[in-house]
Amino acid sequence: MPSFVNPEKCDGCKALDKTACQHICPNDLMVLNKETMKAYNQEPEMCWECYNCVKICPVQAIEVRGYADFVPMDAGVIPLRSTDSILWTVKFRNGSLKRFKFPIRTTPEGKADPAGGWPEGAGDLNSAALFTEPQSLGLPEVFTLKK
Ligand code: SF4
Ligand code: SF4
Repeated sequence: MPSFVNPEKCDGCKALDKTACQHICPNDLMVLNKETMKAYNQEPEMCWECYNCVKICPVQAIEVRGYADFVPMDAGVIPLRSTDSILWTVKFRNGSLKRFKFPIRTTPEGKADPAGGWPEGAGDLNSAALFTEPQSLGLPEVFTLKK
């Protein structure tokens, strides 16, 4: 089931140019209604329930409701993200709760090297190879089928 926004909780990321959920969605599904300053999922059928928007929303306004065959009505899974961990709250249909806390990073926030130690700008955007290849494969070149 796709993500959905609870309009009572959403504050439009306090009118920032690009909201957190817009920034993080890999499918560009989240949009902000500038009149109501509430976000919504513009194409739910394209949502793959990756939970990125759910985890990044600073006010916990986004939820994903699982399909009824494995998540009975009124059950839910709610993440609460901090700088170094996520606390998952699992709510059962009978109202009982279980909480699990998992670390999410091994480097301090903002310190990750985006290129992973590889020289930035080394990749050719027109190449089918990854930007670290062929060095990361230990090969002199990436072998492809010759036409
Ligand atoms: S991240 Fe949360 S608060 Fe911000 S616009 Fe999206 S749903 Fe609303
Ligand atoms: S769950 Fe993932 S794909 Fe769906 S709207 Fe949120 S970020 Fe986008």
